Amino acid sequence: MFNTSGLNVVAFLSLVCLSPVAVMFRRFCMLLIAAYAVCPNLLHGVSPVSQSTTPDDLANIRKTINRLKSLHAKQEKPKAGEWRAQHKEKGQTFFQYLRSRPVRFTEKRNTIYVTPIGEFTERQNELVKISCEFLSLYFSCPVKTLDPIELDEIPAKAKRIHPTWGDRQLLTSYILDEVLTPKLPKDAASSIALSSVDLWPGDGWNFAFGYASFENRVGVWSFYRNGKTDGTDIEFQACLKRTLKVATHETGHMVSMPHCTAYRCNMQGSNSLPESDRQPLYCCPECHAKILFATGCDPQSRFKALASFFRKHKFKDEADFYEKSLARLQSKR
Ligand SMILES: [Zn+2]
Ligand SMILES: [Zn+2]
Repeated sequence: MFNTSGLNVVAFLSLVCLSPVAVMFRRFCMLLIAAYAVCPNLLHGVSPVSQSTTPDDLANIRKTINRLKSLHAKQEKPKAGEWRAQHKEKGQTFFQYLRSRPVRFTEKRNTIYVTPIGEFTERQNELVKISCEFLSLYFSCPVKTLDPIELDEIPAKAKRIHPTWGDRQLLTSYILDEVLTPKLPKDAASSIALSSVDLWPGDGWNFAFGYASFENRVGVWSFYRNGKTDGTDIEFQACLKRTLKVATHETGHMVSMPHCTAYRCNMQGSNSLPESDRQPLYCCPECHAKILFATGCDPQSRFKALASFFRKHKFKDEADFYEKSLARLQSKR
């Protein structure tokens, strides 16, 4: 499940169940992530994408961070069982991120591809459609959906029934290494699979909500554990919100964004659904700046588009927050 040859894969498991083996494995992961923080080039098998950024661009990004800061709350001390209580992560400012030579979008590589995996009801197809719309606005780029992959197409070695819970699960490394990576389109900024079925990272793990590679620009996420898609409108909204969070969080990892430890932020690590539910569907100023740098998008256009997305899909708090952020960037003071 973890290809260490040449140290060229760093997998991120945002949310996982705990088991003794899983805890040991996660410590191993965190060691590699720590190594990444010290020596990013060691882990980036591909050359970071070059894109010209002028000193003025960087000054503008810095200005954006400063204007937005007062709208954001710092993270509190983690409670027992929460991600940061179990993982010692250093966090990363925007300028530390710049020094890490992050993966960026370019003119030739600027599209996010989404491959649905599994069986989808009509409402689940709606979920995929809205998720693609959101990814497109969040990263200010085109999003294309590829042909779905049926479960029958996945070989037995990459499927299992969970031994205790009985859930049908797909092996994440198979999806990343044998489905997405070989077919990565030339213009892909990243390629992500969206599964209706539960995910499983291999021996010692119970499940994962999402899994992404730092360097190969591929990832997978599942809405299996996000709640009912075919229930009431309220249940669909709750499931959609969780799905949008995981989609943007995992894609953030694919443009070299590590977990955030400073502010309440969509890039925070999370150990459980309740913990993830407490986290916002927006980035803090430092992580927002990383998205601006990685994608080259205009901050005001991004906020405007996201505010109208949330208004359209009836997420009032998020719409209000993005409108407030836009007003802050537009204010003369
Ligand atoms: Zn993560
Ligand atoms: Zn952040």
